[in-house]
Amino acid sequence: AQEQFASIRDLPAQALCGTSVSLHMNAGLMADLPSLAGSGAEGVGLFRTELQFLIRNQMPKRSELSALYSRVLDSAKGKRVAFRTLDIGSDKVLPYMKPTDEPNPALGWRAIRVGLDKPGVLRMQLQALLRGAKGRPLTVMFPFVAQYEEFAAARAELDKTIARERILGHQLPASIEVGAMVETPSMAFAPKRFFDEVQFVSIGGNDLKQFFFAADRENERVRRRYDTLNVSFLNLIERIVGLCAESKTPLSFCGEDAGRPIEALCFAAIGLRTLSMRPASIGPVKSLFRRVNLEEVAAVIRTACARGDSTVRPALMDYIRSLP
Ligand code: PEP
Ligand code: MG
Repeated sequence: AQEQFASIRDLPAQALCGTSVSLHMNAGLMADLPSLAGSGAEGVGLFRTELQFLIRNQMPKRSELSALYSRVLDSAKGKRVAFRTLDIGSDKVLPYMKPTDEPNPALGWRAIRVGLDKPGVLRMQLQALLRGAKGRPLTVMFPFVAQYEEFAAARAELDKTIARERILGHQLPASIEVGAMVETPSMAFAPKRFFDEVQFVSIGGNDLKQFFFAADRENERVRRRYDTLNVSFLNLIERIVGLCAESKTPLSFCGEDAGRPIEALCFAAIGLRTLSMRPASIGPVKSLFRRVNLEEVAAVIRTACARGDSTVRPALMDYIRSLP
């Protein structure tokens, strides 16, 4: 499949109207990194750090993690890698942690909630990230931030960790960029200070969609009921685009939908300029982008909304079929 898109690998994801979108890849293993060059991705928009914690029967050591993060950055050869801190919870239970018995694990004690309540592991991981990046730029993002205070508290943990590293005499990263994932509808209604203080936002569309429609992302029966191109969901995304634009906060989208060409096109038409997806999706998404005019796509969406369509998918499919 990669070969089919090899001819456009080094070309920009630029639409006919001249607007370009920056395409990044999602990763979680050292073995994913060769895809960075192979796919033509501009960087790693989401590096999920859970796997190193899930594949062992004991907590990984700080030194092992920092060595891995360092190797990831070596392989990225200067391209940006957004490391997401640990997103484990009662559905992704670590074999060496006491299991919690929660009736609704997706809504439970997970991700940054665990990181803030039991900060030992979060601090260890932040230290490993700082050491792994030494002398190079570091990008960190916190998962599942559901209110401003959680971002502020996580940011404060990072600042404390940086101060401690400095006292210990460790070399620090050349620069540090701190972002948050927006994965709960609450953040689309967060106070302005959140958007002012966060250095970038990445929409975790998989979770955001499941919580918006109250439909379990793992449950095929209910998941398929709700179209990502449903106008209600697009209104939510547009709202986040607007809030970020107001605060000049860079915004990306890193859920699975970013890798679906029609969804990706729709997101770009409503204002997203950075998408992160599995490497194999970069070719198909870019290929469609290069054939369309985003202003036309935006007009198609506006017309469908004005007509009262509940999803813009049929209108977009018609538009794509009409392309030369
Ligand atoms: C998401 O929720 O969209 C996301 C990217 O995170 P994960 O799939 O790891 O929950
Ligand atoms: Mg998520």
